[in-house]
Amino acid sequence: MAATHILIVEDTPSNSELLNDLLELQGHQVAVAADAAEAFRRLADRRPDLIIMDIQLPEMDGLEATRTLKGRPETRDIPVLALTALAMRGDRERILAAGCDAYLPKPIERDALVQAVQGLLARAGAARLEEAPR
Ligand code: MN
Repeated sequence: MAATHILIVEDTPSNSELLNDLLELQGHQVAVAADAAEAFRRLADRRPDLIIMDIQLPEMDGLEATRTLKGRPETRDIPVLALTALAMRGDRERILAAGCDAYLPKPIERDALVQAVQGLLARAGAARLEEAPR
């Protein structure tokens, strides 16, 4: 299987470094964007197989960024894994309503991250196979 490319959108360097290290150890190619605007620039250069999206970002937050991505035909099929420090009632609904495919609470727990990433990549791969002409 070809190496998967994952885009991390996270404004806290200690978090993005942790995510970067965990994902590279799993064999993924990783790019990091510190805000939504940088994420959109990177998306224009290279389409990732998965986006890990911090919800709390400066300027445009992760919910708005995800709504934007899911509203564009060229990016709507890229799975989005949200990361949130929020744990309030209703957050799950807001995150999923924005179009995020899954979410994890912070602080990031290694096994939960690896499982969520593998699950989303497998699901996306299965969907691509179903769409492929026979
Ligand atoms: Mn943040």
